Amino acid sequence: MPSFVNPAKCDGCKALDKTACQYICPNDLMVLNKELMKAYNQEPEMCWECYNCVKICPTQAVEVRGYADFVPMGASVSPMRSTEDIMWTIKFRNGQIKRFKFPIRTTPEGSAVPDGGWKTATEDLSSPVLFSEPESLGLPGVIGFKK
Ligand code: SF4
Ligand code: SF4
Repeated sequence: MPSFVNPAKCDGCKALDKTACQYICPNDLMVLNKELMKAYNQEPEMCWECYNCVKICPTQAVEVRGYADFVPMGASVSPMRSTEDIMWTIKFRNGQIKRFKFPIRTTPEGSAVPDGGWKTATEDLSSPVLFSEPESLGLPGVIGFKK
C-alpha cells in the first residue's frame, strides 16, 4: 500500500527548494503544498512502496502501510537512517517493540567505488565471463571456459 505523510510530523523540509521526499522518489510522486508546508503523495496508485521517502524523511513523517502478510493491522515497520546505518523499529500487534540496526555503507557517505575495486580490460567486454570473475569466485579460471 502506498506511502502517506503524517501532516503532524511534516515540516515541509523547512522550505528548502526541493524537499527530501521529492528529491528521492523515483516516480516523482511527492509534492509539497507550499501554503500548508506539508508534503503528500499525489498519485498513491503509482507508488512502488520502495520506502525511499520513508527512509530519507528527516522527521519520520512518511509511512508505508505494509501488506498484511508481513505487517498485520496494528503493527508497524519504521526505519530511521543515519549516515552509516539504518535502524528498523518493529512494533508488534501486542505492543512488543524490537529494533534492528544494520550498517548501510562500506565507504564514507558521498563516495562510492562503482567497480568494487575489480579491474577490467576492454577486451573483457566480449567475454562471456561475468565482470570480476573468476577472481571474485576465488578461482584461477572459469571451469569449462577456455580463453
Ligand atoms: S521529507 Fe518528510 S519533512 Fe520533508 S517534506 Fe517530505 S514528508 Fe515532509
Ligand atoms: S514509497 Fe517510493 S515510490 Fe512510493 S512515494 Fe515513496 S519514494 Fe515514491
